[in-house]
Amino acid sequence: MRRLLSVVVSVYNEEAVLEQFYKAAAQVLKDAAWDYELLFVNDGSRDRSLEILTSLADRDPHVKVVSFSRNFGHEAAMIAGIDYSRGDGIICMDADLQHPPQCIPLILEKFQQDYDVINMVRTKNESAGWFKNLASSAFYKLINVLSDVKFENNASDFFAVSRKVAEVLKDNYREKVRFLRGYVQNVGFAKTTISYEAGVRAAGESKYSIRKLFQFSVNTIVCFSNLPLKLGIYAGIMAAFLGVVVMVYTLFTRGGAPSGYATIVILNCFMFAILFLIVGIMGEYMSILFAELKDRPIYIVAKTQNMAEDSEKLEQIK
Ligand code: UDP
Ligand code: MG
Repeated sequence: MRRLLSVVVSVYNEEAVLEQFYKAAAQVLKDAAWDYELLFVNDGSRDRSLEILTSLADRDPHVKVVSFSRNFGHEAAMIAGIDYSRGDGIICMDADLQHPPQCIPLILEKFQQDYDVINMVRTKNESAGWFKNLASSAFYKLINVLSDVKFENNASDFFAVSRKVAEVLKDNYREKVRFLRGYVQNVGFAKTTISYEAGVRAAGESKYSIRKLFQFSVNTIVCFSNLPLKLGIYAGIMAAFLGVVVMVYTLFTRGGAPSGYATIVILNCFMFAILFLIVGIMGEYMSILFAELKDRPIYIVAKTQNMAEDSEKLEQIK
């Protein structure tokens, strides 16, 4: 029996590229060694994306659609795709053709060699601009210092996992604030990488603003490292040490303490700055704890099309 490949594609306002993506992907997939399903997750698009996906799914039974009730974000879309996929191997990729479908046969080869996790590493990212590229490499440096978990530099949301790993992600990685590529790189199993060149977005525009990326980076650090929580201890020790030094200096300076308005004000500002920073950091951790505690769903599905359950439902109606 031929094995089944699930290609999970997250879609948010991608009307400009969807047809083009479908053509390029179907072209590659129809000649592939495996059977396939092309699973689009519509992340609450407000343009014609869903309409286009519906018509693709009407034309082609390989196309499956899971549509969210509103925008839940790229991370939610990817895990929903993994939840709904049925393949022996699963590839997650973007709809904008920055993740070239031409890589799919290479990924299949790795699956044939029994790899469970295939990380796609971008060698260059033309569309991102120097600032995003610089920020991205700084982020990876920082997270690798802060976290015990090691991250592949320049890893992207383009990766493939075997059914085994998909089941682990489905059952055990249900955090509300999430960073899927972090989990994928750290579940263990037989891992390999393939490098690829991220081209420019085929059409439409990037959905990630600098602000969103910053928030995303903060969340990831909080989710993967406890070190910032301990900053308070280090700052406290430093402040105590400084206090002792100043005290000794004051006691033993002939003529008593120097009058020091500026010193006092500067020290006060400096100490308060550190204090508030640490309170803020604790706030970040608390907000993530709070999200976990509320236990709201990671995503809500409004509608599916061409899924196995749909045909079962149809059978029941008949
Ligand atoms: N995306 C999504 N939900 C969102 C934002 C983005 O599903 O809230 C999808 C988007 O449609 C695309 C992928 O995630 O397929 C990557 O987004 P984008 O290309 O805008 O990011 P960039 O490549 O610029 O980092
Ligand atoms: Mg993109």
